[in-house]
Amino acid sequence: MCTEKQEVHTMPAEAFPSLVTPTTPPFDQLELAREARRHVCRESDAARKYTSFYVAGVYGGIATAYALGCSLRCIFCWSDSRDHQIGKRVSFYSPSEVFEELWETARKKGVRKARISGAEPTLCKEHMLQLLPLVEESDFESFMLETNGTIFGTDPSYVQEVAKYDKVHIRVGLKAGSPAGYQRRTGALGTGYELPFQAIKHLLEARASFHVAAMTDSRLMSAKERTQLIERLTELSPLLARNLEEETCDRYPSTQRRLEAASADPIDFFVRRKPLKPLP
Ligand code: SF4
Repeated sequence: MCTEKQEVHTMPAEAFPSLVTPTTPPFDQLELAREARRHVCRESDAARKYTSFYVAGVYGGIATAYALGCSLRCIFCWSDSRDHQIGKRVSFYSPSEVFEELWETARKKGVRKARISGAEPTLCKEHMLQLLPLVEESDFESFMLETNGTIFGTDPSYVQEVAKYDKVHIRVGLKAGSPAGYQRRTGALGTGYELPFQAIKHLLEARASFHVAAMTDSRLMSAKERTQLIERLTELSPLLARNLEEETCDRYPSTQRRLEAASADPIDFFVRRKPLKPLP
């Protein structure tokens, strides 16, 4: 448990921070998820807000629907669309419209994989549960579902629904190996640290196809915290721990801005001065 003295954000949700600084009060990520849903999920036709569709080079080439809205505010995040408040170049797409856009995007570049990125894909449940059967019945080979575990950690029946689809592979992204590290790097209350581990438990119970990734970059996470993270994961599954995908923090302009805001000493996080990368 995080024992740091805390002041918690309450509504109005406009108070949820866009940038996390050393003095930003932590927020409740489930409240932020609810607020983001109000902006990016439309109940009447299960639509969700997206900004664009493109093929990214990761996973050997993957058609990507760039969505809006997330439950966290990670200081190493590269995405410009995690904030649900951004208004320009944003439209609602129904599940079938997203599928058509993904398919057309993939067809033009000759790729057979798809994903939602730039945000938390599980946020709009009905949207996701109507999109996945379309992918399953199509000529797509696979759908990569990258999640921070907030929603799956609280909704085991959602996990069971998603696990039914053979083409879906889930990647759970861990942000920390301790509640204090979680709070510092995500902007959310440290108590939320347990949610992705709950999500992993639910995925194991559902026998889903998934693996775990973690931002263990040594510039962000101490060796001690990395050890704690691996031990915690090993308690759930030694196999998952052995196959942990360890991430490093790349130097995107958006990431640099967030890291500088979050650091009391913003000098040269990217000390090796790698050139800025184009967004994936
Ligand atoms: S890194 Fe992922 S989980 Fe974190 S704020 Fe960005 S989109 Fe959300």
